Amino acid sequence: MVIYTDLVSYRTSRRQWIVRAAHPLLIWKGIAGAQRLPNSQHLVADPGKRAEYLKRMLRILCTEIGPRFACTEACERGAEVVRKEMQLAVPEVRLDTFTITGWELEGKPTLRIGDREVETYVSQYGPGTPANGLRGSVRKNGKQYLIADGSGKAMANIDLGPFGPAVVSSYHAADKLPRFSVGRQDIAALDSAAEKKTPVVAKAIVRPVPNCKTSNVVGTLPGQSADEILYVAHLDTVHGSPGASDNTASMIAMIMLAHGFSGTRPKHTYRWVATAAEEGGSKGARHYAEVRKAEGTLGRVKMCINLDSLTYGPNLQITTTDKGFQTLLVDLHKELKINATPKIIERDDTMDSGPFKEAGARTVHLNSRGYDAKMLPLNHRPDDKAETIDPALIENCYRILMEFTRRLDASA
Ligand SMILES: [Zn+2]
Repeated sequence: MVIYTDLVSYRTSRRQWIVRAAHPLLIWKGIAGAQRLPNSQHLVADPGKRAEYLKRMLRILCTEIGPRFACTEACERGAEVVRKEMQLAVPEVRLDTFTITGWELEGKPTLRIGDREVETYVSQYGPGTPANGLRGSVRKNGKQYLIADGSGKAMANIDLGPFGPAVVSSYHAADKLPRFSVGRQDIAALDSAAEKKTPVVAKAIVRPVPNCKTSNVVGTLPGQSADEILYVAHLDTVHGSPGASDNTASMIAMIMLAHGFSGTRPKHTYRWVATAAEEGGSKGARHYAEVRKAEGTLGRVKMCINLDSLTYGPNLQITTTDKGFQTLLVDLHKELKINATPKIIERDDTMDSGPFKEAGARTVHLNSRGYDAKMLPLNHRPDDKAETIDPALIENCYRILMEFTRRLDASA
């Protein structure tokens, strides 16, 4: 279901359109109306303003509101902040609210090996354990750890954190068993427990939340043509993480682009969608694409750029098979004298820009690397905080993406 919460401005603009269309003598009023486009360019007018804007938005979203797991009140509050910012920039903003099956965790997941407690998280949206936990022992099956009962039957999987520490990982659709994440610092403890058959207790009490609401925020800057350049960046975080790098800073960079183009009338229509429930399988992007399909307007999306985690380092990872996008983004690094080495990953995004690719749009997914040892271990963790963001990275991306958008607008 779609709820248009911005009915007032929708009605107003519709009425204005009818008046203008009906009376040619009022064309001058149309011009006057165009001058009333919101203009928030001053917010991002120079590098100092942009750094200040980024810092303020990170403070509000990551520090004051904190983790914004889909379907939580905090996530909706975050969406409301984004909506207000978009309203400063563009004339059409709406919340695209829809329902999904959410997921709730009671307390903290625990994993006790013998008498030692190790840090653990459980896969969000995945199954949990009975209320008093699972009792068994650690088994090692090749490189995979699991918890088995006395007869050797698997009761839970154990994953090692991809970048070091334990993380909140995504649910694998095939999971029938709870999936616990353990940090690589505890590999020795797991190995020793597997060898000595040390008793293990694992506990994670979870429940599905049927029909809970979550919202995308859609901001539109109408162009001379209905053909669209669409940006997507997710506004939700994994459970328990303030998500500064994944993906709040990049989502703020996207809003900064809306400010940067605010008050202008480009050739293409520009749309910026802050998506919900990306961390649950790009549900927000998929929902939004379905809404557009039902409206019969999905085909207007000619290009889609997904920003997800631009602050792991200065080197953009450009994931796309689109040669034009690859060349332009690499060239812009040279032209703008960006001190970084972009890397092409020759495949197409299956995440937030995926549904638009499927509908025939040119797509690219941008993330980053370079500060790996410092930044990657924060991913999907409570320490992915506002203070860890290097504003210079967002500044570089802002400059590249403003110019990228202008060139795309002029080229097609
Ligand atoms: Zn992400």
